[in-house]
Amino acid sequence: MASLKEESRKTAPTWEEVEALRRQVVELQRVSSLGVLAGSVCHELNNALTPILNYAKLGLRNPDPAFSRRAFEKILDGAERATAITGGVLGLARPRADRRSPVDLVRLVEEVLLLIGKDLMKHRVQLELRAEGRPHAKINPAQIQQVLLNLIINARQAMPEGGVVRVKIAPDATGRLSEVSIADSGVGIAPADLRRIFEPFFTTKTGPDETGLGGTGLGLSVCREIVEAHKGRLRAESRPGQGTTFTLRLPACPAPAEKGAA
Ligand code: ADP
Repeated sequence: MASLKEESRKTAPTWEEVEALRRQVVELQRVSSLGVLAGSVCHELNNALTPILNYAKLGLRNPDPAFSRRAFEKILDGAERATAITGGVLGLARPRADRRSPVDLVRLVEEVLLLIGKDLMKHRVQLELRAEGRPHAKINPAQIQQVLLNLIINARQAMPEGGVVRVKIAPDATGRLSEVSIADSGVGIAPADLRRIFEPFFTTKTGPDETGLGGTGLGLSVCREIVEAHKGRLRAESRPGQGTTFTLRLPACPAPAEKGAA
């Protein structure tokens, strides 16, 4: 007679169980991207805090009101930068309340680049950002930041010797969608692999890299799932040996009216 354990192993998982596992995978993917950021975020925060401390000390020592004013301005700059950095991390770390609102994509991308910039520099990856206007999209910002982060980390991993990542933000030709493309100058993807990269567990990486990322084959499947839940599209084009471009298309929306505007 089969043991209870063997019996239960034969039973197919219920829809609820599959759904709970799916959510856990998305969640784990998010947490693992946050892990990569930890080092570079601390470094960036430190860069923002150093002038705050120094100008506060100088301002206290120097009685000249013109100097004090300048010191306050520098302190304010540093504090705003620090707030932008922590705001970005908190946005990513926040529980996934599925609320969508009109989001300025240029700002969203800049926030992600602020977090990942140091990591790219460390891996000799140059960054180029180009924006056509200020496209907005109706999205959950933390989820789309997760997607962008994943695509940029993949791009960096595809350029072990360094290279360039070009990020472009623009409205699409119809005006109904806003586009973000991430192009790298990395190893590229063979045509047979390109058909499979969005499949869960498809990976060509032999294991996690030194930052603990990659090699699970779940990143792109989670990205596509998030994007499609937004009624958007995620596509990849690649030339082996030359690089890969991922294009993210999201439902465009007008910029919200400025608060206090007539
Ligand atoms: P993982 O990074 O864990 O392998 P992903 O789902 O993020 O999982 O990616 C699946 C595969 O797609 C990778 O193993 C790699 O072969 C390929 N890939 C993804 N992004 C790129 C890229 N920018 N350049 C080259 N190959 C890529």
